[in-house]
Amino acid sequence: MTTPEPELANQSPPYEDVNLFGSDLPLRDTVASNAGGAECEVLAAFGRRWGAAEMFERGRQANAHPPQLETLDDSGFRCDTVEFHPAYHALMGESVAEGLAASTWIPEATPAPAPAQVTRAARFYMAAQVETGHLCPITMTRAAVAALAAEPRLAAQVVPKIMARRYDQRFAPWWEKEGVTLGMGMTERQGGTDVRTNTTTAVPAGEGYLITGHKWFMSAPMCDLFLVLAQAPGGLTCFLMPRFCPDGVVNALHVQRLKDKLGNRSNASSEVEFADAFAWRVGEEGRGVRTIIQMVQLTRLDCAIASAGLMRMALVQALHHARHRIVFQKRLVDQPMMAGVLADMALEAEAAIALVMRLCRSFDLAAADQAEAARARLLTPVIKFWICKRAPAFVYEAMECLGGNGYVEESLLPRLYREAPVNAIWEGSGNVMALDVLRAATPETLRTVLDALAVDAEGLPGVRETRALIMEALAAGETRARFGVERLALLAAAAALRVSAPAAVAELFARTRLVAPHGAMLGTSDISVAERAELLARALPV
Ligand SMILES: Cc1cc2nc3c(=O)[nH]c(=O)nc-3n(C[C@H](O)[C@H](O)[C@H](O)COP(=O)(O)OP(=O)(O)OC[C@H]3O[C@@H](n4cnc5c(N)ncnc54)[C@H](O)[C@@H]3O)c2cc1C
Repeated sequence: MTTPEPELANQSPPYEDVNLFGSDLPLRDTVASNAGGAECEVLAAFGRRWGAAEMFERGRQANAHPPQLETLDDSGFRCDTVEFHPAYHALMGESVAEGLAASTWIPEATPAPAPAQVTRAARFYMAAQVETGHLCPITMTRAAVAALAAEPRLAAQVVPKIMARRYDQRFAPWWEKEGVTLGMGMTERQGGTDVRTNTTTAVPAGEGYLITGHKWFMSAPMCDLFLVLAQAPGGLTCFLMPRFCPDGVVNALHVQRLKDKLGNRSNASSEVEFADAFAWRVGEEGRGVRTIIQMVQLTRLDCAIASAGLMRMALVQALHHARHRIVFQKRLVDQPMMAGVLADMALEAEAAIALVMRLCRSFDLAAADQAEAARARLLTPVIKFWICKRAPAFVYEAMECLGGNGYVEESLLPRLYREAPVNAIWEGSGNVMALDVLRAATPETLRTVLDALAVDAEGLPGVRETRALIMEALAAGETRARFGVERLALLAAAAALRVSAPAAVAELFARTRLVAPHGAMLGTSDISVAERAELLARALPV
């Protein structure tokens, strides 16, 4: 049987060799409204590069050939190395060179408030559309800088090697490399969320400590250095553990196993044991959680950005297909019910990117503006909760838009689908985010943030009522926390859209999410024919 041309076979052509920035009007608008407009050309170049067929192919290869652990070398000595496919290293090389692990740590001389978080988030969001596994060490490396600040002497040696934007995949001492990557080990067998149950111990020895114990999850074990928690004499403490000891000997960090994961396959997630492994203390003894939480706040932000990226790629795959596939003499996109599903998805995906970009703006402004600092603190767990939890259902709906092709590995959808849940689990799962919101929502912080959101969302329907619901739910504590957090995310999304999107889009979001309770499924919103057309044209120009 000869294979017909895609058009004759009624199949959609591959979605590749596209500009991930130029074709994304919601992204361009929200970057501009959050002070990143001057970076448009740089972002367009990034979008062209990452939208190239070659990059999609690298993403495929890196996941089709997952990393392999080698515990022993050919003489039987421990080596604890992990081998990755060259495509993974290529993705790492490009992301590091583009500053995804470094660009927010701008030199102090840069005029404040530069939109460093916003423009880096735009790039992270585009990279996540192509391949998310390699972004795990990228996000940990950039976030680790925040925790290292507690130990200026160490930071002075390590941070310049992060800022160098050089990816060096060699298994070699970190001080011999121009560029390094960092990982993090907190979770133990008996407790991940509740790190106070950590049993790993740290004993002072010479210029550092010797660490003994394990980590049940430690991703990207080929990083050069790791921030780990362990029980020191003064309590739970943060440490910096190198793969090589200062004398050049390989550190006693033994990789026991790589996790066999649902998704996130290009990334290695390991179980490790420490047998008197050498590490330096970061911050004071007993202040481990306070020290490492500086890092976690940033990785939580990245979880939300990456999930928004997954939603975006799922949406465009579905929309692209629906514009080519003909059913019952009409293009799928012109079938009223399919248009309704796609439009509802487009609205939600636009809300997701508007939300994270506005949040990144708060991070950019936080140092000089207390209200923005309060907003960043309170809304980070809110937004991680909402976007990361919406993404799996969203990707599933997009998969269904492609029919049987969406369920088959040649399409991108199975990988996006497997990838989606992890962002909700790691760096604090849903309930943990809701608990964090309760902790952060002091009466003053809540009032500051709600006042600011009300100003941004002025004129939209349902704002006053939603505010009242949020106050009531968060005041009720844990029993109503999930509801309150979800409502707060929706209010923040409406406010973000009101600032960055056309008025009709913000109005529609508020009408379908604040005023009318949104159905459990996408495609249940009341969106007119004209509104659908506008949303879809905006989501992806024909
Ligand atoms: C692919 C992958 C890679 C990972 N990489 C790393 C890594 O590099 N470094 C690292 O340190 N960790 C890593 N983790 C671990 C991850 O951060 C933890 O799995 C996560 O924080 C949850 O911890 P846990 O598994 O111990 O679950 P638990 O803490 O037991 O939580 C189980 C459930 O209970 C909920 N819960 C917890 N406390 C409460 C409460 N008080 N009230 C109500 N509900 C609650 C949680 O929300 C969760 O849904 C990784 C995990 C995965 C899946």
